[in-house]
Amino acid sequence: MKLNKNCKICNKGTWTEVNDILMDIESYIFIVKGERCTECGEEIINEQEGQKMINMAKKIGVWGTPLKLYRKLSRSARGTVLSIPTDIEKELKLKGNEAVAISKSGKKIIIEIE
Ligand SMILES: [Zn+2]
Repeated sequence: MKLNKNCKICNKGTWTEVNDILMDIESYIFIVKGERCTECGEEIINEQEGQKMINMAKKIGVWGTPLKLYRKLSRSARGTVLSIPTDIEKELKLKGNEAVAISKSGKKIIIEIE
């Protein structure tokens, strides 16, 4: 991809190569190379770097929806129970005695292994 050196957004600046563009994927921060306009600050990630970032994000499981499984909640005397699907159990190497932190984000319940 060959870029025109003049910024089309502000028509004033020129693209300069930078290596500190911050990308936020699911609250993981990636620092990638690209170009930034000297005037308006618009940033372009070069294609190769973008792909590298996607691969990295996939590796740590934050790209797309890596694992979505459906389960029904059940009710016990002590409250609502959710059993963790075995795939996730294996993936996280759960032994079943871990301490977890449970929080809520909209309609999502986030379970963090401590
Ligand atoms: Zn610009």
